[in-house]
Amino acid sequence: MALSDLPADDLARLESRLAAEYDTLADKGLALDLTRGKPSPEQLDLSEGLLSLPGEGDHLAGKTDVRNYGGGAGLPELRSIIAELLGVETGRVIAQDNASLSIMYDLLVFSVLFGTPDSQRPWKDEPALRWLCPVPGYDRHFSITQALGIEMIPVPLGPTGPDMDEVERLVAADPSIKGIWCVPIFANPTGAVYDDHTVSRLARMATAAPDFRVVWDNAYVVHTLTEDFPKVPDVDALAAEAGHPNRFWQVCSTSKITFAGAGVSFLSSSSANLDWYLGHTSVRTIGPNKVNQLAHARFFGDAEGVRAHMLRHREVIAPKFEAATAALTRRLGEYDVARWTRPEGGYFIDLEVVDGTATETVRLAKEVGVALTPAGSAYPYGQDPDDRHIRLAPTLPPLAEVETAMDVVGLCALLAACRAALA
Ligand code: PLP
Repeated sequence: MALSDLPADDLARLESRLAAEYDTLADKGLALDLTRGKPSPEQLDLSEGLLSLPGEGDHLAGKTDVRNYGGGAGLPELRSIIAELLGVETGRVIAQDNASLSIMYDLLVFSVLFGTPDSQRPWKDEPALRWLCPVPGYDRHFSITQALGIEMIPVPLGPTGPDMDEVERLVAADPSIKGIWCVPIFANPTGAVYDDHTVSRLARMATAAPDFRVVWDNAYVVHTLTEDFPKVPDVDALAAEAGHPNRFWQVCSTSKITFAGAGVSFLSSSSANLDWYLGHTSVRTIGPNKVNQLAHARFFGDAEGVRAHMLRHREVIAPKFEAATAALTRRLGEYDVARWTRPEGGYFIDLEVVDGTATETVRLAKEVGVALTPAGSAYPYGQDPDDRHIRLAPTLPPLAEVETAMDVVGLCALLAACRAALA
């Protein structure tokens, strides 16, 4: 039954029952955290073997001594594993240091300072810079564009990708729109997976800017919550066929495969883009951490080793996603006041509450010891115009805590919805 169908008396009774239950929570001294998409200690334990790799005496990758400077593009041994997972040739992937976010930051900074291989001038010399941001999206993407003074334009993200009619219309008309953020597989935070038609339209679309770029952030490319792994489109091939060989900058990392913050990141793109990128990085570093790259190559063995490892992650986190969904269904299912995504991979659930109540729901949860990402954080400038979305990250806490925390979130969302309906 929809909350709005309840007679006023029933609604008031429901509100006071929920409020009484909510008040009891304050005494429980909860301290639960669903804010950031971090792996749990149990997940990190899956990669404990990395800590003794490559191991004393194991420092040669082919003829390369990984202890020394050099090798800006990274070790072919590891690049070939990731290349297979991305479905591209080894030469089209480079391995870097610990964070794909750093690669994305560099890609934009280099473009602003120097321009891309297709730019007429450095982006800083353009009269205006704009960027498309599918929403809800990843807050740290938006922080990069914001920090560089690039104006962000939200476009709606659906279950199969961004609203492509809107994207095509905007990029065709405005040469100051230089790019778009995309998380094509198990998007943060909705879990959306771009379908073939969307990918093909992104590769083919005509853009007013000759140096338009798609940041193709494949952070969750192998992070399945089912038995299956998603198909990974060869975006460079599609874009090259359409005459846009340099359009995609694809990144990923092992942050949520091995150790968050101590993994290896990767960039896959056209040769022209990789040469351009390495030309600039060779000024700021004499080479990436190849010891860690060799450790990862030894740890995985091959692409199948990565997939097998990800299925072990799945065993740990899939029950948490199931528990989260079950708790939300229990609390909210019967009132038609909220929707939530049921992702088949990735790290997040996107909870949509009654318009105008996301901030209040987060506040209520915080008061009783459940920390959530601030409402609006999945939007450019932190502004969700409908105050509707809450990003939930169930991977870090133990299962029992996920159940409790999600129950509290459901209670708070329902209480906020009741109060909004009574107001
Ligand atoms: N991209 C997305 C979509 C993410 O959700 C995250 C982490 O939450 C990252 C990138 C960060 O990746 P890295 O640790 O490689 O910088």
